[in-house]
Order: sequence, then structure tokens, then C-alpha cells
Amino acid sequence: MKITEVISHVLQYELPEELGYSQQYYARRTAHLVEVRTDEGISGWGECFGPGNVAVANKTIVEKVIQPMVLGCDPLDRDVIWHNVYNLLRDHGQKGMPIQALSGVDIALWDLSGKIAGMPISKLIGGAHRDRVAVYGYGMMLRREDMPSLTSRFSDEATSIRAAGFVATKMKVGLGPADDIKLATAVRKGVGDDFPFMVDANHCYTTSDAFRVGRALDELDAYWFEEPIAPEDLDGYRELRAGLKLNISGGEAEFTRWGWRHLLEGRCVDIAQPEVCALGGISEYLKVLALAHAHFTPVINHVWGSAIAVATNLQLLAAMPPMPGGLHPREPMLEFDTTDNRFRDDLLMEPLNIQQQVASNGGYVNIPDGPGLGVEPDREFIRKYTLDV
Ligand code: CA
Repeated sequence: MKITEVISHVLQYELPEELGYSQQYYARRTAHLVEVRTDEGISGWGECFGPGNVAVANKTIVEKVIQPMVLGCDPLDRDVIWHNVYNLLRDHGQKGMPIQALSGVDIALWDLSGKIAGMPISKLIGGAHRDRVAVYGYGMMLRREDMPSLTSRFSDEATSIRAAGFVATKMKVGLGPADDIKLATAVRKGVGDDFPFMVDANHCYTTSDAFRVGRALDELDAYWFEEPIAPEDLDGYRELRAGLKLNISGGEAEFTRWGWRHLLEGRCVDIAQPEVCALGGISEYLKVLALAHAHFTPVINHVWGSAIAVATNLQLLAAMPPMPGGLHPREPMLEFDTTDNRFRDDLLMEPLNIQQQVASNGGYVNIPDGPGLGVEPDREFIRKYTLDV
């Protein structure tokens, strides 16, 4: 079998309401799907992390830079293809968009490999440690509201995410330490004392501000503090991890085994959050996972994007060994964005129905066991939302 075409589908729609995190407000949702076609008529699907115009730029890298490197290759030669492409891109970007672009292509090759073998990706990796996974729901995005309405909305949203069946919840911050502490207090009030909640700063603080917020989060018994500071500031991460009680998490903006090596060797995070659609795809994710476990660092994947990204992560979560093992080991969770996302809910021929499963299965979702990713996108839906670029 030979690769005949690599196509990027950039999808976009206007959100019903603007959403925000500590870096920006945004009004459109974008997804970047990669389709690898073969001479035997089978296609594999992948996804590249990167919103808005980043997806448009990544499409050019996928189609104009990577595609010519892989045409005619056997899609089963995933690791050979990965290293050939990486070696040619290395001089032009060892992090960021070239690696995001490679990620989508690599995931599509894994989907193809599973379809060729007639088995799910989890089986290709080495087997499923679990057939279902618990789901945490994130919400509580920033909006252009005043503090009284933000705090009451955060509290209400936290209550409703718990009521929807999720096993934990995650909020955004980013207004500055004093207001962020008020928002976290509102979320604790909304979920009650006995429910885990996490706080995602999207690297908006200095280390000293992160300490101020982190000490308040310790008092509120928050479970983890995500990307408190800039991902480049490894010394800051190490200091926060040593000085705060709650878990420090991060890594969604880190790439490849070589980037992750420094984060892990530096003992910078309690919980590693690799993003498979950005760090180099499934081939590279597996190396990062091994590296994390070699440093006894638990992994809870960062998940963002369409149903293709969610399905990819479900396969990886199935195949993730417990770390450490035990009779009742600490299990991974699926990250799930509770805000409006048609590309996740309506993209597939047979939808994953995460919210419905969470509501009826005590916070758990089943892992698809069909070949490859175990899901197939609806081409009519893709046509309808494809951005003309
Ligand atoms: Ca995050």
C-alpha cells in the first residue's frame, strides 16, 4: 500500500457566544483534520492542534511541505516516515507549527495502520489496560463580564458540571491574582467540599503571583494548578512544585521527546499533560509517555479539538499502563471541554455521545474498539464547515 495524497481539512464556525482564557477571547471554533489517502482507497484521519489562523498555516505545512516527503511511502512505516520528516524539518522548527503539522499526519498513519490490521490503535500499541475511562469536564471560561456576574456564573457552571456526571471539573483564571482567587472560591462553593476541581492559568502569572494564587488554591484544596507560568520557565515550575501542596501540571505547549526530557528531568511537574495532536503525534507521544513514566510522573493527556482528537486520546488512554501499578491504581482521566463544539459532537458518522455516556455511566465513557481510531468522520459535515483557504 502506498500513500497517494495528504489533505488538510480546516473547519470553522462562529461560536454562539465568545469564550475566553487568560490569553484571549475568541468567537470562532476551528478544527484541522488531516486525511492520508492510499492507492487502495482506504483513508486515515488525524488532527493537528492549533486554532484559527495557526490551522491555516499548518495546512500549508501539511500539504506543501510534508506531503511531498511522504507520497509513495508505505503507511505502515510510521516510525520511518516520522524520522524522515522530522530530520528534514529540524532545521526549520523543533517545536510549534511544524511539529503540530507532523502530529496530524502521524495520527492518520496510525489510523490507517489499524484499519489495515483490522484492530484498534490501542491493540497496535500493546493492548487495552481498560475499556472505559473517567471523564472530567472543563468549563468556566472567561467572558467580558463584571466580577459579580463572573463569580455567580462560575459557581453555577461548576454545580451543573458536577450534576452532569463528570468526575471532576476545571476552571480558567486570568484576571489577576486577587480576582482569580475569588473565582476559584466561587467554584469550590459551586462544586461542594468533596469534589475535585482544577485551575488552568494558561501561563498568565509570574512565579510570585503564581505562589499567591497557589497558596489560596492549597487552602481551597484544589487538585491541580495547570500551566501557572510560561512553559519556558522550568526553574519557576520547579520552585512552585517544591513550595505548594497542590499538584503542578503542564506540558501541553511542549514538543517531542527532546523538549519533554528537560521538563521531566527538571522535576518540573507533578502531572504531565502531553498534547498528542501537537507534540509529534502518536509515535512521539508513546516516547514521551515512556519518558514520563521513567521519571515516575503520572500522565493525564491534554485533550482539545474535534472528535478525531477525542478518539485518538481514547485509544491512548486505553493503552496507558497504570503508574504506579496496584490493585486499585490511580487511573487516567479524559479531559472534556463542556463548551459548544460541533466538531466534536456532530463530526462523526456515529457520534461518541460523551455527555450522554457520562450522565448514564457514572462519569465514564467507553473506548471505541473498531479498527484504527474506531471512528469515521462524515464527509458531508466536513464539506459544510470547510474553510475556503
Ligand atoms: Ca490547559
